[in-house]
Amino acid sequence: MLGLMQDRPLALPHVFHRAEQLFGHRRLITAETSGERVTTVADWAVRVRRLATVLDSLGLSADARVGTFCWNTDRHLELYLAAPCTGRVLHTLNIRLFPEQLVYIVNHAEDEVVFVDRSLLPLLWPLVDKFETVRHIVVIDDGADHEIPSDPRVRDYEELLAAAEPFAGRFTVEEENSAAAMCYTSGTTGNPKGVVYSHRSAVLHSLITLTSDAFALSERDVVLPIVPMFHANAWGIPYGALLAGAELVFPGPNMTPEAIVGQLERHRVTVTGGVPTIWMGVRPLLADHDLSSLRAIICGGSAVPRSLSEAYREAIGIPMLHAWGMTETSPIASVSSRRSHQEAWSEDERADARARQGQPVPFVDLRIADPESGEELPWDDRATGELQAAGPWIAKEYYRGEGGGTQFTQDGWLRTGDVASVDKWGFVRLVDRTKDLVKSGGEWISSVDLENEIMAHPAVAEAAVIAIPHEKWTERPLACVVVKPGQSLTAEELIEFLTPRVAKWWLPDAVEFIDEVPKTSVGKFSKKTLRDKFAGYTLPS
Ligand code: AMP
Repeated sequence: MLGLMQDRPLALPHVFHRAEQLFGHRRLITAETSGERVTTVADWAVRVRRLATVLDSLGLSADARVGTFCWNTDRHLELYLAAPCTGRVLHTLNIRLFPEQLVYIVNHAEDEVVFVDRSLLPLLWPLVDKFETVRHIVVIDDGADHEIPSDPRVRDYEELLAAAEPFAGRFTVEEENSAAAMCYTSGTTGNPKGVVYSHRSAVLHSLITLTSDAFALSERDVVLPIVPMFHANAWGIPYGALLAGAELVFPGPNMTPEAIVGQLERHRVTVTGGVPTIWMGVRPLLADHDLSSLRAIICGGSAVPRSLSEAYREAIGIPMLHAWGMTETSPIASVSSRRSHQEAWSEDERADARARQGQPVPFVDLRIADPESGEELPWDDRATGELQAAGPWIAKEYYRGEGGGTQFTQDGWLRTGDVASVDKWGFVRLVDRTKDLVKSGGEWISSVDLENEIMAHPAVAEAAVIAIPHEKWTERPLACVVVKPGQSLTAEELIEFLTPRVAKWWLPDAVEFIDEVPKTSVGKFSKKTLRDKFAGYTLPS
């Protein structure tokens, strides 16, 4: 017997129409090179409707990949809806990729058009002749003074919009499993791989961001996504905020700690999100700003140091809301929200729990498995294994079947490449990326745990641990440490600090003081760059 409920597609047009109909008065604020632009959801919606007409008038195919090369802005949000609501596929391009990777991705996805912020034109334009399928470059003038090339492929965003009639009526996407958006993994080895989100996965994922054990987004929120809109769709925050009716504040091109903290304070932001590096940068400014409006700082993308989260709790009263996910998981898979059993815990114990990657959100299944045998391991907080994920917004394969079967198990789970343990409450603790673990004498040292302990030293700004080959032990840890400005620290002092905090055999064999930990295109520590930098390094015997 079948249920007798209406079979309506779970598709992004609903997000658009709901925002337009219910939340037209809510504001969208974007920082530009010269000041801030304030608009309303109602005005934005008219522009989305015009943009829908523009996409048709450009002669794009029905499921064209629509590339964006943009900052976090309200204009980018126009593309976020206009592309999928007209059946096209939003393809956000990472503005920090190496040129060859960018060319590869644009050609691989077969983008037909790329929308680019004028301030980013100098990065994109030199590559345009290598784009095989791109017919139009549409420049969004963000006030930068870079010259706009006179070339028949180049179009002006505002001119196109002004000439277009707003699409009338309701957008429809009948097939909820059709593609809505795609993102390429920032893969450190091999070519990036395409992850293709469906309307259904995007809608369900947005809904999850509204649940109270995730981000609890609501109409009463003012949300500032610092995580780039090209990084796993800014963790689903833009769609979630529109669905909820929250106001959105966009940082635009100015991502300095001063600019971020200024926007947080000025617009009484309640929810924000970014990788730990961002929050490390903002931390010294906390004391000088009124951030009392904040209720959640979503942090993930790499492990959130306990000391960082605690520094925020002490300075402004709220710790980080630690979340874990991947481009392949849309990305929200687990969130370290508070559970009732923690009520009786000390603040210290709660801080430990917050440093974990958290419990799976509804509809995401997680398990840990022995990487060799595939055997499922117990949730006893001791056994560590490869973290695997399944759920309606978890990838089942890569675009064009790339990556082979290696990243998916026989029974269809995603192999994340992360090593974790899980406690009896279902709270994940990520030990490391498989490839970042330090294999010492047949045992594993978690570079993440060791970094956490090093970053707990008051003089340390940031630290990364990498494995150095070792004749006797296979590998030994090297600590690469950045000291806070105006502070001093010697290797001996650091080792002395670490000695009571970690097992003796975990103590780094050497400490190198560096100016900055190199970062990936999405602001994570780039262990690969560090490994290259210290290739051939000789550890003291
Ligand atoms: P990306 O697809 O670029 O977002 O990278 C996903 C990877 O980032 C995951 O597989 C993890 O290795 C890492 N990651 C994401 N969130 C966290 C977190 N909260 N703690 C530790 N690592 C994380």
